[in-house]
Order: sequence, then structure tokens, then C-alpha cells
Amino acid sequence: MRVLLYTVIYCLMPLHSVFAQNDEKPKVIILTTGGTIASRTDAPLIEGPALVQAVPQLADYADVRVEEVVRIGSSQMTPAIWLRILRRIDELARTEPDLACILITHGTDTMEETAFFLNLTHRHEVPIVITGSMRSANALSADGPANLVDALRAGIAPGARGKGVMVVLNDNIHAARDLTKSDNQRLQTFLPTERGYLGFVDDEQVTFYRTPEQRHTLDSPFDVVNAEALPEVDILKDFAGLDPAILEFFRKRKTDGLVLETFAGGRSSAALRSVTSLPDDHKPIVIASSLRGSRIMGTHPEGTPVIVANDLPANKARILLMLALTRTKDVEEIQGYFDTY
Ligand code: ASP
Repeated sequence: MRVLLYTVIYCLMPLHSVFAQNDEKPKVIILTTGGTIASRTDAPLIEGPALVQAVPQLADYADVRVEEVVRIGSSQMTPAIWLRILRRIDELARTEPDLACILITHGTDTMEETAFFLNLTHRHEVPIVITGSMRSANALSADGPANLVDALRAGIAPGARGKGVMVVLNDNIHAARDLTKSDNQRLQTFLPTERGYLGFVDDEQVTFYRTPEQRHTLDSPFDVVNAEALPEVDILKDFAGLDPAILEFFRKRKTDGLVLETFAGGRSSAALRSVTSLPDDHKPIVIASSLRGSRIMGTHPEGTPVIVANDLPANKARILLMLALTRTKDVEEIQGYFDTY
């Protein structure tokens, strides 16, 4: 987190073992993507195999192999890289049906977005757990190694299946749908909505306390493994005195949809209020709240392109709209996805 600039490195580093193989233990694959967990304040990002090799405790729990997918700061994450990660996961899940779980290391800036994307598009049973760190690898009390071991323990724990994609950081297990980065410095950066954590990783054991109600993974209809690209959706944030020309710019841009991040309960400035008088053949416009976990309820106003995001924040509403648009342009149907995912 303290390293601000990263070089984008696209890697083709095949799967390899960094510890002695152990056929008795659960099989786990770690896909690395960069982020602070792979950063040092004095050197370039650490390669995936070296990152994992530095945590020999992983081998106490599992037969671990590692593959670097990409080596970037997660502010450089893109939908194209999401698709690459998804394709690799799909290949691994199909060719290695005995995998206990797949871990992904990732920067925290866009971790919640990658997690939610995979939550809606990973259509296999094998659990996916994403982790990272807030402190660089060479910092005093670096949190990366413990997070990696915790993530692995959560992924292989009884009860990990059926929870959707999970994020583990600072001993807490989050549902991909419900977490938000909240702080730029603290180890406890990820906060859940009021629904709380899925569970905890303690020294003694991993405990799950709930299962997400919203649909995900195997229940998801979003089949984009072979997609070359995803539909494009912008986010426009509302503010006091927003100039209507800004909305016009976003409305007319050649994108497939738009998310408006409005004030608390969906209330918006005069400029944005005008979207309810647009015809329903306009590109879909999702109204999301700027407050973590705030619910914008109700159905979409008939005859308009407006969809309500329920409690999804704008960044996740964008992902769901991108995926919904791979299946339909019908506003009612898209609202249906927002009601159930
Ligand atoms: N800049 C970092 C990133 O890659 C932040 C982090 O990993 O904590 O998102």
C-alpha cells in the first residue's frame, strides 16, 4: 500500500511446486497477481513463487503449487485481466477436480471488485479465497504471511464450499458481495455490511457463522469464460451542484450502461433526477448509494431505464450490470438480477 507505483508485468509463469510434494494433504493452487502482499519498499514486486516460498507454514496444511497470473498493483486491474484469471481458474477446476481450493493473492485496492466478479462468474464448486496485505513484505510486522496461511486454512476448512468467493484478511472471512475497503493504512481495512463476517480464522480453528443468501458461483447464469471482452459501464458520482453537462456526456458516451452513485438513499441532485424521464430504450442506468451497505429499495420506475442497486455499492453494481448486459438489455430483467445477486 505504501508503494504507489508499480510496473504492469504480464506473466506466463506456469504452475510449479515450491515445497516438497505431499500427496496426503489437500491440494491447493495459489494464483498470484501482485499487490502490497508482493511488494517491498526497496525493490520491484516479488514474483509469485518467491512470495509463496517465503511462507513455509503453508506446507503444514496443504500440498501447494503456485502460478503467477500477473504482477501488478491492483489499481491497474482491468476487466480483461479478470477474464484471464477466470479462464485459468476454469481450466484448473476442470483438469484438477480434486483441488481443495484456489487462493488468489491480490492488492487490496480492487480486491472487492475482483472478488465480486469471480463470485458471479466462477461456476465450479472449488472454493476461491482471495487475500492480500496492508503492509509491504519488508515492513515490521508484515501481515501478508499470516493472511496467506489464514486464507488457505479458510479455503480448505469444512464449510468453505457453497459460500461463494471469500476474502480473508486480518483473521476475518468476508463474503465477496459484502466487503468494502475502508482505510488506507489499517490492517482492519475491510468492513462488511451490517450482515457481518462469514466467519473467523482463529488459532484453534476456522469457524463459519453464516452463508450468503444472494445467488453466486454455481447458481450464477453469467457464462463469460470464453468472452473476449465485457460490456462497458461507466460510474458517475453525484455531488452538490453537479453540472447537467456532465450527465449528458456520460449518457451519450458509446458505452453499454451507466451507474449513478447518488446520495444516501438514492436521492440525487437535480441533474441526475432527470434520468427518470428518459425512455426505457436508453442504455440502462443503475442507481447506487454512496454509503456502505445502504439499501436503495423498490422496483425500477416503469417505462424508464432506471434500475435500483439494492445494497450494492457503485463499483459492484457496475460489475453486475456488465454481466447482466451479456444476457439481456431488458430493464425489468436486469432489475431481476439486482434483486437476486
Ligand atoms: N496498492 C495496493 C494494491 O495493489 C494496495 C494493497 O495491496 O494494499 O491494491
